[in-house]
Amino acid sequence: MRLQFIGAARTVTGSMHRLTINNKDYLLDCGLYQGKRKIAFEMNRNFEFFDPAKIECLILSHAHIDHCGNIPNLVKQGFKGKIYCTPATKDLVELMLKDSAHIQEKDIEFVNKRRKKQGKNLFEPLYIQEDVDNALELFHPVKYRTDFQIDDNIKIRFVDAGHIIGSAVTHLTIKDGSKVIKLGFSGDLGRPNLPILKDPEPISEVDYWISESTYGGRNHDKIEGIKNSLAEVINKAVARNAKVIIPAFSVGRTQELVYEFHQICESGVAKRIPIYVDSPLSKNVTGIFREHPECFDKETVDFMNKYDDPFGFNQLTYINDVEDSKALNDKPGPMMIISASGMAEAGRILHHLRNNVENPNNIILMVGYCAENTLGRKIIDKEPLIKIFGEQFHLKAEVVTLHSMSAHADSDELTNYSKSLNSANLKKTFLVHGEYEQQQQLAERLKEIGLRDIEIPKRGEVFEI
Ligand SMILES: [Zn+2]
Repeated sequence: MRLQFIGAARTVTGSMHRLTINNKDYLLDCGLYQGKRKIAFEMNRNFEFFDPAKIECLILSHAHIDHCGNIPNLVKQGFKGKIYCTPATKDLVELMLKDSAHIQEKDIEFVNKRRKKQGKNLFEPLYIQEDVDNALELFHPVKYRTDFQIDDNIKIRFVDAGHIIGSAVTHLTIKDGSKVIKLGFSGDLGRPNLPILKDPEPISEVDYWISESTYGGRNHDKIEGIKNSLAEVINKAVARNAKVIIPAFSVGRTQELVYEFHQICESGVAKRIPIYVDSPLSKNVTGIFREHPECFDKETVDFMNKYDDPFGFNQLTYINDVEDSKALNDKPGPMMIISASGMAEAGRILHHLRNNVENPNNIILMVGYCAENTLGRKIIDKEPLIKIFGEQFHLKAEVVTLHSMSAHADSDELTNYSKSLNSANLKKTFLVHGEYEQQQQLAERLKEIGLRDIEIPKRGEVFEI
């Protein structure tokens, strides 16, 4: 058996690994590389290490774009195999890829406009809606905790990864000639005790382990204090009739916030104020959550039995129409507006920020990771002047940042998960999906708990097993 690490190798984006067994090729994830435009353009367009037509099948860990976003291009370039993932991932992927195709088309339109002026040849989008439709035909859902024989070579079993809805840790049983090899792939690993989703489920017996390492060297704040922090923000908003603007990812973070606010309302620790979710994608993703209660933890199921819908209550309104979104400007506070994108780089959140950042009475609540140079990061850093739609604004609203809502396991949690693997059998661990420094720190910690032979593969690096 051979393992090649193609994407998310010493970086956090473009997850893609190739397994070769008895001369057959399989992929784990087929993510979009997200980074500087020029590098991303080349890396996503060309599958440098293999011919897509020769890949037997794809095993997908979850529906984040950096894990599934290049599937339509894989299909466009000849891939005809099946794509295995959990049922919730399949449903979510449909929304994510359609949204991604739309972005690809818009993006290339913008690039081509400039190239046309310069008399240069025009580019095609990486993929279009039709490619997404073709890709969706190939999906084959496999339920959690169900053994599924893909072919003579591989049997898979998905267990909860607790990262986003549908996310899975994959356990592969591989027949390689007379040998049987057990391989574990973490995908992205979530955190115990996060709202809504079941906790990451351990897999015990593996010979080889591929683990993410995003926060390999860092620990998050504890999740337990989150309700108090959110209730405090509501009470503050009530006291001064403030508008609270919350940039949030459409997948996961928005639903977590809605569910937390619902619980806070029912518990009576804060006043009930109007809450708006202003993002069509967030609304649609919430629909997928409602269809997959099999992913919910016991607390959420109990809450559902008592209050019916965790993602719907009297004070909450989902907004679709642009006109309704604009109308929020004229409504008085207190209120909360949850909108995308999470890093405040695009989407309706920009309008709400523009209309509210200069009022010191208002609050901007930051609840997610924001990459360097994004507007979200500038707000977290409380830069006095920020640019929105090319215009300068004074950041006078109060900025409140909560660090505990990450969907990625932190250093302790990654270490604890690896501890649950039976280290006596474990021959080698590969760290992927992390910046090199974080990976080195995690490697040290894993050695301390007795894991042997830890590799941090480079892009394209091959391991014979
Ligand atoms: Zn992810």
